[in-house]
Amino acid sequence: MANSYDAILIGGGHNALTCAAYLAKAGQRVVVLERRHLVGGATVTEEIHPGFKYSACSYVVSLLRPWIVRDLDLPKHGYQVIPLEETFTPFPDGRYLLRDADAERTRRSIAQFSKRDAEVYPMFGRAMSELGRQVKPIIDQAPPDPTSFDPREIFKLAGLGRRIGGQGETWTSAHIKMLTMSAVDFLSEWFESEQLIAPMAVSGIIGTFLGLRSPGTAYVLLHHYMGEIDGSFREWGLAVGGTGSVANAIASSARSFGAEIRTEAGVDRVLMQGDRAVGVVLENGEELRASRVISGVDPHRTFLGLVGEHHLEDGLATQLKRFKMRGSSGKVNLALDALPEFTCLPGHGRHLYGDITLAPGIDALERAYDDAKYGAFSRRPFLDIVIPSLNDPTVAPPGKHVMSIFVQYAPYKLANGPQDWENQREAFGDAVIDELARYAPNIKDVILHRHVLTPWDLEKTYGLTEGNIFHGELSLEQLAFLRPVPGWSRYRTPVRGLWMCASGSHPGGGIMGAPGALCAQAVLKQGAR
Ligand SMILES: Cc1cc2nc3c(=O)[nH]c(=O)nc-3n(C[C@H](O)[C@H](O)[C@H](O)COP(=O)(O)OP(=O)(O)OC[C@H]3O[C@@H](n4cnc5c(N)ncnc54)[C@H](O)[C@@H]3O)c2cc1C
Repeated sequence: MANSYDAILIGGGHNALTCAAYLAKAGQRVVVLERRHLVGGATVTEEIHPGFKYSACSYVVSLLRPWIVRDLDLPKHGYQVIPLEETFTPFPDGRYLLRDADAERTRRSIAQFSKRDAEVYPMFGRAMSELGRQVKPIIDQAPPDPTSFDPREIFKLAGLGRRIGGQGETWTSAHIKMLTMSAVDFLSEWFESEQLIAPMAVSGIIGTFLGLRSPGTAYVLLHHYMGEIDGSFREWGLAVGGTGSVANAIASSARSFGAEIRTEAGVDRVLMQGDRAVGVVLENGEELRASRVISGVDPHRTFLGLVGEHHLEDGLATQLKRFKMRGSSGKVNLALDALPEFTCLPGHGRHLYGDITLAPGIDALERAYDDAKYGAFSRRPFLDIVIPSLNDPTVAPPGKHVMSIFVQYAPYKLANGPQDWENQREAFGDAVIDELARYAPNIKDVILHRHVLTPWDLEKTYGLTEGNIFHGELSLEQLAFLRPVPGWSRYRTPVRGLWMCASGSHPGGGIMGAPGALCAQAVLKQGAR
């Protein structure tokens, strides 16, 4: 039958593409259905202003699992990452912190704020790498499920406990601290200078509706330390051609194995036969059938939207509604006529080539969070900036530049409701540029084009419920065997024939590919129920 498949994947994000590639490689007949005109989801490059290629949403790469890169032969399909080696943090008092691959230069830079911190810093890096290495196996496998009575699960859990506990008391307590502490408290056990703690702690709040001092943010910090590029642990980098080239490489690999990928093919609903998912109905009314339907969209959208509450067993809809989406981030992409000049470090040196973090202090960032708690965007937001065109000239015309600004906080629910973002989008964009202009006053004169994405836009354009960048917060109660709901963390769902393969499943968000690949493994191992 022409419209019948082994698997239908809903959504063309990088996870669904990864899942499709693995299934097609195993000989299955699969189709990916993406509602937009291009694949990638939040991993996308878009030429919104002629000649300037924005990594519209995600902008740096590190978490993509190396075994997926190898299995899918991604370099052959155009996947290439340039490591980012510098982190530059300017401060309001005219000083700056520069951390880069040169250990001695980094030591001197930190020492201007604290000699003790400068000595401790390399040890901290080694400890985080070790912590990351110890927990890394968790992100490369389906989570053991303690809610199951299956002895194999208990055995796996015990193995995991042994792996972490077996490293000794110091490491065990470090893991417990990571799981329970705030990013600031965790870092304060190591460091004393705010100028180091604040820019380091911000990794703990990315994508969360939490503050630097909120318990649980230390884990998000660790999540951002788990990546690697070419075997180099903890590195972050820029995908050549923008992050869309990562999704395009996975799509190309999937096609090479025979997967069919359709764009402008929005799914209206999952087709149910009794209690079983048997296919999908597209927005244009077309019906496609398959042995399995695999959702690459977030849990809310999948179950409450595409399946419908009336098909869910008792209590599931309530559990899903409790699964916190709560978008807190926005994005501003700029086309620039010239580079920014930072008052504290004029010129166009290496400090512009890496990550530029505007994190002036712990209290300042907590105040930024306060705004969000009461339904407003931060008047003085945290900004994480990269200028990809400095490392990758393919993304801007000669002599011009692209700037990517990740912004927090931008709560989905404004005091007057999320739709109020339609009125506040430009004011939000202005607040971001004003904040940057405090450090780089020429920025306003060199902007050729500004693209502002609020959580409302992330929902409307990119299909992210409440604009949550990770398909659900990476808070402890939503991780591992609890993601997205207890008992259903292994990519199968309570709806027969329906599977989940995207960031709302273990191990969560980021350009990782792991949920997609692990879902494919589960499908191939267990088959349809
Ligand atoms: C602003 C922002 C910045 C980020 N920065 C980074 C970063 O720098 N590094 C990093 O690692 N991660 C980052 N992330 C997170 C990362 O991009 C996401 O976690 C990841 O891309 C999600 O991939 P996915 O495949 O799980 O889902 P998605 O990318 O969300 O893909 C889901 C797809 O489903 C489609 N879809 C939705 N509904 C339907 C439907 N009814 N029918 C058909 N298709 C549908 C959507 O259009 C979309 O293409 C960022 C995210 C955002 C939003």
